[in-house]
Amino acid sequence: MAEKRDELTPMMRQYHDLCARYDDALVLFQVGDFYETFCGAAERTARLLEVTLTSREDSTGEYPMTGIPVDNAESYVEELLEAGYRIAVADQIEEPGESPGVVERAVTRVITPGTLTEDELLAGDDNNFVAALARGDGDGGSADELAVALLDVSTGDFLATSSSSREAIADEVSRFAPSEAVVGPDASDDLLPEDCMVTPFDPDAFALERATKTVSGYFGEPDALLAADAEVRACGALLEYAEYARGGAESDVDEDADATEREGPHLEYLTHLTRYDPREYLLLDAVALRSLELFEPRAVRAREDATLIDVLDETASALGGRALRDWLRRPLLEPERIEARLDAVEELTGAVRRREQLHELLRDVYDLERLIGRISRERANARDLRSLRDTLAVVPEIRDRLADADCARLRELREELDPLADVRELIDDAVVADPPIEITEGGIVAEGYDADLDELRGTARDGKQWIDDLEARERERTGIDSLKVGYNSVHGYYIEVTNPNLEAVPEDYQRRQTLKNSERFVTPELKEREDEIVGAEERADELEYELFCEVRSAVADEVERVQALADALATVDALVSLATVAAQYDYCRPEIRDRDADLEIDIEGGRHPVVERTQESFVPNGASLSPDRRLAVITGPNMSGKSTYMRQVAQIVLLAQVGSFVPAESARISPVDRIFTRVGASDDIAGGRSTFMVEMDELATILREADERSLVLLDEVGRGTSTADGLAIARAITEHLHDEVGAPTLFATHHHPLTELAEALPAAFTLHFQVEQREGEVVFHHEIAPGAATGSYGVEVATAAGVPEDVVERSRELVAEHADELERPDPRTDSQEHGDAHVPASTDGGSQGVPDDVAAELRSLELAHLTPVEALTELDRLQRLLEE
Ligand code: ADP
Ligand code: MG
Repeated sequence: MAEKRDELTPMMRQYHDLCARYDDALVLFQVGDFYETFCGAAERTARLLEVTLTSREDSTGEYPMTGIPVDNAESYVEELLEAGYRIAVADQIEEPGESPGVVERAVTRVITPGTLTEDELLAGDDNNFVAALARGDGDGGSADELAVALLDVSTGDFLATSSSSREAIADEVSRFAPSEAVVGPDASDDLLPEDCMVTPFDPDAFALERATKTVSGYFGEPDALLAADAEVRACGALLEYAEYARGGAESDVDEDADATEREGPHLEYLTHLTRYDPREYLLLDAVALRSLELFEPRAVRAREDATLIDVLDETASALGGRALRDWLRRPLLEPERIEARLDAVEELTGAVRRREQLHELLRDVYDLERLIGRISRERANARDLRSLRDTLAVVPEIRDRLADADCARLRELREELDPLADVRELIDDAVVADPPIEITEGGIVAEGYDADLDELRGTARDGKQWIDDLEARERERTGIDSLKVGYNSVHGYYIEVTNPNLEAVPEDYQRRQTLKNSERFVTPELKEREDEIVGAEERADELEYELFCEVRSAVADEVERVQALADALATVDALVSLATVAAQYDYCRPEIRDRDADLEIDIEGGRHPVVERTQESFVPNGASLSPDRRLAVITGPNMSGKSTYMRQVAQIVLLAQVGSFVPAESARISPVDRIFTRVGASDDIAGGRSTFMVEMDELATILREADERSLVLLDEVGRGTSTADGLAIARAITEHLHDEVGAPTLFATHHHPLTELAEALPAAFTLHFQVEQREGEVVFHHEIAPGAATGSYGVEVATAAGVPEDVVERSRELVAEHADELERPDPRTDSQEHGDAHVPASTDGGSQGVPDDVAAELRSLELAHLTPVEALTELDRLQRLLEE
């Protein structure tokens, strides 16, 4: 098609040009009620969306074509996005026939995963970020500086930060999990998570001079706001990208124009940019986010409620849901800020009635951030305005519930809850209570709002009244009792007279239509009245649309106040949610220690917030870490509770820093700067790296970056290699963490020699999980106690699970044999389980003739990595294998 552009029909030329301008996107080209695509694009969309491929024929040839209905384009758009497309929506921007020639079209919006604004395509209670990455300018030694800017187009949340450490920026990126990232000439897409779409964007937009202008256009001088050139570049480029996605920047690209000059639509809903320092927040890298199960469960087949956010989220509104997620993503460090939240949570925890009332009221709060976004993008209809009004209507009640709050934070919030009485009044006066969806067909502006509109409506009404009365008048005048006045869409109003009465028809009746049994007439006066009505109605619809747009833009002018209100409502909702959970699940207020003081963590009766919800009786356990008892080596058989215990300590610390109450009897917590985890079984199989490689990689990070303000969790480190190697590595790590790093550390291990090491190191100590062997069965108490465990009991677990006696006997034997081999490197490496070597061999019984394959499978079972259900399934399979 491209080579014969000049021969194309005007419409196809238009399509061709839009495709050329948006060359990295799929252009959806509006033709009446359909969005159409042509040629290659048509073939691809037809296949993908399973819609019919047809063709379009015109004087210049025949082209493949598909169409999707404009009215329910959303579901198709979703599929296209999932398949990795960016979509440019080219709408007709004038009515057909409005001007001579082909209907004018323009790209009104570019839809990409990171720039979604449609509610249908967005998760309500989570942000959807698009990121931009940029480097420093090269002068003044700032070239190493790397920045990330993050924007949620649907809510207006806009953040930026920078660092000279690539890891730090990668960590920030994974914290916010953007669905798309815009990169410039010095692309750094290796810092991005895998499921993030990478969008190369105009290198000029990243240039410092131009980016400075872009940022100033929104927020004033960047110097006052941002800390590094790299940040300015990232923010400038991201703003331009958001403008591009907003569409409408159709001024023809002038090739000669100065590269610093640019013209785009202004995005009114972007009212603030928050520059933050990652060091203000508890740092959680991607590994920690995953292993502490903040947002995503680790197990593939996990229960729905298997994450921390699941157990914590009792918010009533989408606003609150997003706020809570942000708090969890970025736990605080400053005790004052933490205490301010804790004060509010404590007060709300105590005030049951008030808390419940607040929750009820907050349920009526619409997603104000997205609503005001739509309003300022001129995409809101009259119903959206009414939704805003309905939310504003509950604000005074929410304020009332906070009227006698004691703590500073709640009192402050009450002040911030501006009910926007002027906006509410404007909408109340201007928009009817239950308006239609369409904004061009009238019926939306309230009576009494505009005198001209009322007059037009009056004219139409009077006219209709005159026509209503016409029938009676004409019957009397003509004496024809069966005379009727009616209306049809082709001929308009008419007077109908049946054939027997035709002689009585007066002079001024003009014949319009002849039916079988009757004739239809009009009179000049009826015609005149009719024109008057139709004219008044049409003008009224137009006027209504104008008035509506005026009101909408007046509301849009208040975007900052609406956003501030949304913030305050979100905060109240998140605090109420934390208080609800605290009260319902018996959490306690943690005592937050000074950051200058030594790092200490003291937990009594701590519980795992997620596991305790699914476990019938959860056994609480304490923890106590301080500078002179900072490294705990934890042993115990598989399934005794080691991993659960370590995670619960980290989650309690994290929750405390969020400003939440914690699942414990009591807790005294020093805020930590960073939580490191190396938790087994988070194997990066999908990433294609070997388990052992992943393990060493994560360990290297910990050893390099942890310090005495970090909390370190190590679960079964040194498992992914032969026992001798694994033990050596685990030893060396323990010594290094103890001697050099000084971080409070919990280390669960099956390497029993480590417990001896721990006894020898002054600031290390041992903990173990007690189990009891009762009549050959293992009973788990899930209770932590000082000292080292005596064995691993792996085989006993098998007995308890009902593995046939002969298999168990044979296992004992193999374990004993195996114990002798311990010193030799193992050829099977990676997937081997050696931990049960300490179980003494059984004395009686020899080989019971267990087939080799079953024995081999038993031997290779990684008990530590199996859930109870998986273990049972495995055993069941082996049992059946034996029976064969
Ligand atoms: P380990 O790491 O020692 O193999 P886990 O921590 O994975 O053991 O715990 C195994 C299972 O035991 C958990 O899935 C949970 O069901 C149960 N469990 C762990 N800790 C407790 C506890 N404190 N109270 C009750 N059940 C627990
Ligand atoms: Mg474990």
